[in-house]
Amino acid sequence: MTKLSRRVLEIEESVTLAASARAKELKAQGRDILELSVGQPDFVTPKHIQDAAIKSIQDGSASFYTVASGLPELKDAISQYFENFYGYSVERNQIAAGTGAKFVLYALFTALINPEDEVIIPTPFWVSYADQIKMNGGVPVFVKTSEENHFKAALEQLEAARTDKTKMILLNSPSNPTGMIYSKEELEAIGNWAVEHDILILSDDIYGRLVYNGAKFTPISSLSEAIRKQTIVINGVSKTYSMTGWRVGYVVADSEIVAAISKIVSQTTSNLTTAAQYAAIEALTGAQDSVEEMRQAFEKRLNTVYPLLAEVPGFEVVKPEGAFYLFPNVKKAMEMKGYTDVTAFTTALLEEAGVALVTGAGFGAPENIRMSYATDMDTLKEAVRRLKAFMEN
Ligand code: PMP
Ligand code: GLU
Repeated sequence: MTKLSRRVLEIEESVTLAASARAKELKAQGRDILELSVGQPDFVTPKHIQDAAIKSIQDGSASFYTVASGLPELKDAISQYFENFYGYSVERNQIAAGTGAKFVLYALFTALINPEDEVIIPTPFWVSYADQIKMNGGVPVFVKTSEENHFKAALEQLEAARTDKTKMILLNSPSNPTGMIYSKEELEAIGNWAVEHDILILSDDIYGRLVYNGAKFTPISSLSEAIRKQTIVINGVSKTYSMTGWRVGYVVADSEIVAAISKIVSQTTSNLTTAAQYAAIEALTGAQDSVEEMRQAFEKRLNTVYPLLAEVPGFEVVKPEGAFYLFPNVKKAMEMKGYTDVTAFTTALLEEAGVALVTGAGFGAPENIRMSYATDMDTLKEAVRRLKAFMEN
């Protein structure tokens, strides 16, 4: 009889992190593996951000705990960032920072979810949402989208999924893993529907600055006063500033929700690492040139790799507008190679072609596979060459 809790038995390890761990293991054994699995920018954190953290360590400010929800200066930096990029300002008591957007999301679900509460999640979805909801006793309700509708949920689908237990809808635009972006009109329709039925909107905006080829990110929280009141915004510095290792995420929401999250932070991590808070302040308020440089690099990679990937036999791919992932449908490729399970197919690509991707299974997309293009151009081109050779053999 296992001693493990039912809660932990119900969840899986994060497939993105597991895929990356497996690729690293094979590399350590001397195998030639191209790693396009975990989603993180390949750039070193910009120097002015590093310097702010170093300064805080050396002048002693980073030696101590902070308020659980973050330094007042960090909240002011987030507020200023909201004025610049969302077009509205927020009060300190509407902001809580934590150890990565991932942990802030977890604290948020703990703060809001009662057993059996339902959360509507359009699929494909980022791997951690469903398991975090389950860990907190909630019920993820999936609304399926596919390539035909550009991976966007239609209002009728959301309405069909709504019950009297629906507490929240989760939106992630630009999306991990599909890279699609909801338009202003689509968000207005979803926002008004959520207001009408008193359903909270959880808007994960972490890829909001990473949009390409003229695409535009609209924050749903900026659309009207009523929608903003209904919305909880999750954001962070990991993707925009190439700071995944610093573990800085934050939530902007109604002060009652923020106070509840702060309470959870105070009883778990105490506070986000102090030096990382100083780095985040500089990231959010300092020069933004490196953000644009990195964005342009991703755009170039997307525009180069997308047409190459589309030529791989059996791979059908919609061109993404944001984030840094390609999410081809590999149903035909699997048929050609005699696979029925996308996870087994992903393993074959790793073992036989030396290309580490992530199975779509963890994203609620059993016909797709995810490739991160947040890596250098040579690696990307070689990876696609290997995939093509694998399929043509
Ligand atoms: N949301 C989405 C959609 C993501 O892809 C990630 C990736 N890490 C996160 C949240 C969490 O980011 P972090 O914990 O690094 O802030
Ligand atoms: N969000 C990134 C990804 O999807 C990083 C890993 C993770 O947190 O899942 O690959």
